Amino acid sequence: MAPRSRQRRHKKPPSSVAPMVVTPSTVVTPVPLTLSKPDPSIDALGFFSLENNVPGLSQLILQKLSMKSYEEYKLVLDGGASVSGFGFRCPQEMFQKMEDTFRFCAHCRALPSGLSDSKVLRQCKRCRNVYYCGPECQRSDWPAHRKVCQELRLVAVDRLMEWLLVTGAFVLPSGPWPCLAETVQSWDTWFSMRHLQLDATLDAVLGSHAMTTLWASVGRPRPDPDVLQGSLKRLLTDALSRPLTLGLGLRALGINVGKIGGSTVHVVGASHVETFLTRPEDYDELGYMFPGHLGLRVIMVGIDVSAGFTQNPSTPILEPGTVQLSGHRGLYHDFWEEEVETGRIAHPDLVVTFHPGFHASPDLMEAWLPTLLLLRDYEIPTLITVYSHQELAASLQILVDLDTNITAYGANPFASLKPEQAYSNPNKQPVYCNAYYIIFLGSSCQLDRRQLEEKVDGGV
Ligand SMILES: [Zn+2]
Ligand SMILES: [Zn+2]
Repeated sequence: MAPRSRQRRHKKPPSSVAPMVVTPSTVVTPVPLTLSKPDPSIDALGFFSLENNVPGLSQLILQKLSMKSYEEYKLVLDGGASVSGFGFRCPQEMFQKMEDTFRFCAHCRALPSGLSDSKVLRQCKRCRNVYYCGPECQRSDWPAHRKVCQELRLVAVDRLMEWLLVTGAFVLPSGPWPCLAETVQSWDTWFSMRHLQLDATLDAVLGSHAMTTLWASVGRPRPDPDVLQGSLKRLLTDALSRPLTLGLGLRALGINVGKIGGSTVHVVGASHVETFLTRPEDYDELGYMFPGHLGLRVIMVGIDVSAGFTQNPSTPILEPGTVQLSGHRGLYHDFWEEEVETGRIAHPDLVVTFHPGFHASPDLMEAWLPTLLLLRDYEIPTLITVYSHQELAASLQILVDLDTNITAYGANPFASLKPEQAYSNPNKQPVYCNAYYIIFLGSSCQLDRRQLEEKVDGGV
């Protein structure tokens, strides 16, 4: 079938498709950055939209990172400037400055610079995550804050603990799965499969020098071991959610990974989130999910793919049993025409897009439409993920309207278990990366709209 997308091709760069939101929720690394797309709400698709919630916040963040402009910050993420440019002298200073980016009154949104001399911002004692300019604001905020306070307590621990992943003190368990891969269908079975190895890993991290340094640097008491273990496990699910979700797609679509020459997955709309500081071995777990596979090629495509990630693999030969990770910086349509149609890069067996967000605004939809139509008309097996049930319903509706053939959707058994705070709007319900998935293949939807609504309303 002739792809309709060819006529409707938009040149508009889908910058908002992979919004670059500075989120100090994950900024507690030597490299302050956004490793997640943490504020997926419609009002926060971009760094400067933080201002909508807390005026002055974007400037405060840059100031704490010792940066003059957003462009300077983005240059680091793009790989065009050294990460040492942040220039923190010691962990204490880094953690302090990171914490400072959270200092605004959760109720009236006042920043420290906007307070009278007698006032200081004080933390909520329960979650140690949000701040108030005084008891009145705290009291008025409680009805809203109490719904999220407990979850935000986890977020506050996780964002500190993430430092251990970046410094290399916390290395994810690795090696072939010691059981039948088919039996691992969710985190529960994954954790019991890895449990011996994992116990040893967690014990080592808990006793590590890095862990001691961390809690000596952050200006708050070290939590109990079970709290720290819980956090490490959440971080682990967050790191492995993406590779295992690719595996979920391959499984659900019954894609033959025993194909001679290997199988190929394109991750479309990839950004820094997927590529900055991502190491090839981070996707090993995907390979272990398919013992006996003849090679898996994962290609990240997007205009915000980090520079260090852009070189195409020098060898097109894919060794059986290996996972090859590479990136391509650009729009998917150009990539398709220039690389896939010309045969330079392998045709995808599966396309995955993490949190495309096309439900969020007409602009985003316009940016995504040509890609969605291309995937539909070329009948490429496609999996997308979303942050919440509400987004699931909205995204399904759009895909139904586009006459895609939705073959499956539901709660992702490999969703991240790490809550993501809406940074500039902390009382908003936290969400989880890859919480739900949708799979479509080609056109002509089998479910009519009413059936779909019933299914979604009934919970999935
Ligand atoms: Zn206030
Ligand atoms: Zn609280």
